[in-house]
Amino acid sequence: MVETNEAMMGIFSDRLQQVAPSPIHTFSEAVSDVPNILKLTIGEPDFAVPEHIKAAAVAAIAADDSHYSVSAGSLALRKAAHQFLLTRYALDFQPETEILTTVGATEGLYTLLSAVLNPGDEVLIPTPAYPVYAEMTRLNGGQPLFVDVSDEAFLLTPDRLRAILATHQQVKAMILTNPSNPTGATYTPDELKALAAVLKETAILVISDEIYSELQYDGVHASMATYLPEQTIVVNGVSKSHAMTGYRIGILAGPAALIAQINKVHGFVIMTPSNPAMAAATEAFNCDRSLIDTQAMKAAYQTRRDFLVTELTALGFEMVRPNGAFYIFAKIPADLTQDDVAFAYDLVAREQLAVVAGSGFGPGGEGYIRISYAAAMPVLEEAMSRLKNYVANTRIA
Ligand code: PLP
Repeated sequence: MVETNEAMMGIFSDRLQQVAPSPIHTFSEAVSDVPNILKLTIGEPDFAVPEHIKAAAVAAIAADDSHYSVSAGSLALRKAAHQFLLTRYALDFQPETEILTTVGATEGLYTLLSAVLNPGDEVLIPTPAYPVYAEMTRLNGGQPLFVDVSDEAFLLTPDRLRAILATHQQVKAMILTNPSNPTGATYTPDELKALAAVLKETAILVISDEIYSELQYDGVHASMATYLPEQTIVVNGVSKSHAMTGYRIGILAGPAALIAQINKVHGFVIMTPSNPAMAAATEAFNCDRSLIDTQAMKAAYQTRRDFLVTELTALGFEMVRPNGAFYIFAKIPADLTQDDVAFAYDLVAREQLAVVAGSGFGPGGEGYIRISYAAAMPVLEEAMSRLKNYVANTRIA
C-alpha cells in the first residue's frame, strides 16, 4: 500500500473541498456491519429485472454490439423513450434532437448543471430534497438555494416561489422532484401550471427530476414540460420504474437547442453509454411490455405504503400520505427525541433497525425520518414490530 503524501491532498479543487461527505452515506457505512440489522434505508427497487429485458442485454452482447454508439445514445433507445414519454405522459420529444441518453439520471443531472452553471449561480432546491442536488451544484461552482417547503405539504407554492425570486437575482435553475424523494409528494397539473406561470416571467431553467414518474399512486403523473416546455428539461430513466439501477441508463428530454448544448458536455464526459445497457433499456421502454412490468411493481409498493402508513400512524408518527416513489417521510412523535440523527443511531443500537435521519435532506427535514418501502412485506412487518418495541421502551413519560 502506498503511503498518503499529505502535500498531495492539497491538489484538490476548492469546489471539491466544499463538498461534505453525505451524512446518509456515513450512517449507512456505520451500521452496515451491525449483526441482524434490518435496513429500510435503501433507495432502490427490490424486484428482479424482467426476463425479457435481461434477454435484450444478453442478445446485444451475443450479436457483438461492441462499438461506440453516438453520444446521444442509440437511436433505437431514443425512439423507445419517445414512445414511452408520449404514451404515458403525452410528452412529444423528437428522438433525433430532443432526447439524450445518459448514464442513469445521475449523469443527466450532473451534465446539465455543468452545462449551465457559472460560478456563484444559484440553484433553487425545494427541501427536504435528494441530497445529491446540492453537492452536484457545489461541484459545478454553483450555490444551492434551499427553500424549506415542509410546512406546505412538501410542495413549492407559487407564492413562495415569487417571494424567493424577489430577493434572489442569480437563480439560474430550479430542481423540481416529482414524485419526490424523500417525501413522496407529487404535484397536480394545476399546481404545476401555477408554478409555470411564475417561471414564464423569468429565464430560469427547470430541471424536472421525474425518475419516479411510474410510481405515482393516485392520479396520473404530470410533467412540468407540459406547462413550461421552453424552459424545462425532463430527467427520467429506467432505474426505479424497471428495477434497473445497476444498468445505469437515464434520459434527458427538452428543447433541441438546449439538448444540443448539453450533449457537448455529455459527449466529453462519458462519450456514449454502454450498448448492452442501452439494448435493455430499449426493451424496457417498449410500451406494451413496460406497462405490464411497471404496474405490477407499483401495485406491490402501494400495498406496502398502505401498511406502513397505518402502522406508523398508530405509533404516533405524523406524515403527509406519500403519493409517489417508495418512501415515507414521517415526523418523530413529540414524546420521543426530536434529534433525528440521535433517533436513527439509537434505533439501530436498540432494535437493529436502520432508517434515514431527515436532516440529511436539508432544511425542513429535522425531526423526521425517511423509511424506504423498497423491501418485501415480511421485512416491513418485522421492521414495524421492532419500531413498536423501540417506541414502547423509549417514550418520554
Ligand atoms: N433522482 C432521484 C430523486 C433519486 O432518488 C435517485 C436515486 O435515488 C436518482 C435521481 C438517481 O437515479 P439513477 O440511478 O438513474 O442515476
